[in-house]
Formats: sequence, C-alpha cells, structure tokens
Amino acid sequence: MKVTGRCHCGEVTYHANVDENKVINCHCTDCQIISGAPFRTVVVSVPDGVTFTGAKPKEYIKIAESGNQRAQGFCGNCGTALYATSVGAGERIYGLRIGAVEQADELIPKAHIWYRSHKPWLDNLSNMSAFETAPK
Ligand SMILES: [Zn+2]
Ligand SMILES: [Zn+2]
Repeated sequence: MKVTGRCHCGEVTYHANVDENKVINCHCTDCQIISGAPFRTVVVSVPDGVTFTGAKPKEYIKIAESGNQRAQGFCGNCGTALYATSVGAGERIYGLRIGAVEQADELIPKAHIWYRSHKPWLDNLSNMSAFETAPK
C-alpha cells in the first residue's frame, strides 16, 4: 500500500510502500520513553520502501536489549518521531510511526508486542469518560 507522511512542522515529508498487514502496537519501554506515549503503533515498509522528499530526518541510534542498534528517525526541527530502521549499509526496512502517516486511519493494528510492559490501564479504555474535545 502506498502512503505519504509528514512531520508536524512539514520540513520532513516522505512517500512509502508499506505492508498494511504488518501494523503492530509496541509496548516496549524504549518505545514508551522515546515516544513519550504509553505505546507506539508502527507499520512496516517493504525493503528500501521509503523515499524522503523534504529535509533529511535526524537519527538517534539506540541500543536494544538484544544489543542490536536501531536508528530512530525524527524531524530535527519539530521532533516528530517518524521511524525506526537498521543501522549501516544494506537495505533498510522501516517501521513507520503511524501518527505521521496521512493514511493512518486505514492502518489497523493486528497485534501487540512487548505486552509484558504494557500499561495496565489500557485494558480498561472503553470504561473511561470520553469527550469529543477537551472538557471545559
Ligand atoms: Zn518537523
Ligand atoms: Zn518498542
């Protein structure tokens, strides 16, 4: 599936070819810290399936629990989290953060991973008060 994306300020833009059957919610503690959110939803690209069309994203290299390095791409101006991918030479498969994907409503998560560190209150979302906008 072809998608397009942009960061909040619009400096970084891209188009990508993704596998809409590979959409996951990651509850690992690295994703929680780096995203600032309780979990992160990603869609997986085909190999070398992302083309950047604006400013070059910045990358932060994190070391995973496994010892593997993962590049975390974000906009150097506004800080929007955009993707994670492999480090070094070779083809790159991107895990695109769906918050910055313009077709995000069509990308339905199929599974949770690293659920052992999920926030327990997520099990209870449908019982919380919900406001269409911020309550006064
Ligand atoms: Zn930006
Ligand atoms: Zn994660």
